[in-house]
Amino acid sequence: MKKRKKLKKKYVRYLALIFIIGLIIGGFVIYRNYSNNDMSQDEKNKQVNKDDDITLRLKRLSYSTDDIRFVKNEVNNENIDYLIKKEIDSNLAMEIIRENYYIDDYLEKYLNYYEDNKELSKKEIVTRVNSHLDTEFYTNTEKTDDTLGKFVILNKHYYSDGNYEGKDLVDVDSKYHIWGYEFKLSKECYEAFLKMYEDAMNAGYAFKINSAYRSYDTQVKIYQGWVNQDGQALADTYSARAGYSEHQTGYAFDVRDYPFTTDDYSKTKSFTWVSENAYKYGFIIRFPLNKEYITGYQYEPWHYRYVGLEAAKYIHDNDITFEEYYEYFIRFNNPRNLG
Ligand SMILES: [Zn+2]
Repeated sequence: MKKRKKLKKKYVRYLALIFIIGLIIGGFVIYRNYSNNDMSQDEKNKQVNKDDDITLRLKRLSYSTDDIRFVKNEVNNENIDYLIKKEIDSNLAMEIIRENYYIDDYLEKYLNYYEDNKELSKKEIVTRVNSHLDTEFYTNTEKTDDTLGKFVILNKHYYSDGNYEGKDLVDVDSKYHIWGYEFKLSKECYEAFLKMYEDAMNAGYAFKINSAYRSYDTQVKIYQGWVNQDGQALADTYSARAGYSEHQTGYAFDVRDYPFTTDDYSKTKSFTWVSENAYKYGFIIRFPLNKEYITGYQYEPWHYRYVGLEAAKYIHDNDITFEEYYEYFIRFNNPRNLG
């Protein structure tokens, strides 16, 4: 009996201890929640005040309620402050912000570019700034992100160094090209090429590869050769400086009519088939007609670039360049639904 009483006493003491610990923890949790709520409420108030303030200031600059809602969704606070501080005209700002390929990071650039190019449409302002035409070719260049595989961009703005050697390069079978030496392409690009080639042959259109992957060092020699022959200014319109060539990606190749008929590939039978069907295999005409001012190169009906099915279809259907696609969808990974 005694033993049992002792046990009971011990048991009650344990219970009391657990109860007290429970009270302490419970109290602490309630206190924490309460103070958290208190803080977030304070933050919320600040946010509401800031929001009201922005609304008021934009209204004063004659932005409509609809505009303000749109701006708050699409433009970061720093840029909104910029619009307010510089008292940017609401019509001008809204036309730019509502453009299809508007990139918020470039708002200030758009407005600056507009100042010097008021005759251009807002669509054109956005296109040009997104393609870095607000600076001269080969000036203010940036190192490209060479980990992007089929989306690596090399042009007169983005460069790579001699260490970038494409991705998964494989040998192109000699029956697909016209020269004696070996050609390489990125595996993904080569496989898509094989499909396109086979379908073209079956449809009665024959062509062969004239140039494919070119290393940095090869491009040094090629470019220098053209400069020696034609001078740098002319060479720059058709040949890339080393580090800036699409061919260094392994995702680009040039084709030629087979059997060879003319240097003007756009006049050949195979071109009609390839140019109409390339996007179905993930290829784009990388330097299209009338887009020379964006790409920085003359029209090259023979130069195809692999970007995958989805991007190729989008670029084809919307008649844009890889420059525009890259900046909006790849570099800034823009979520705006373009419909
Ligand atoms: Zn080429």
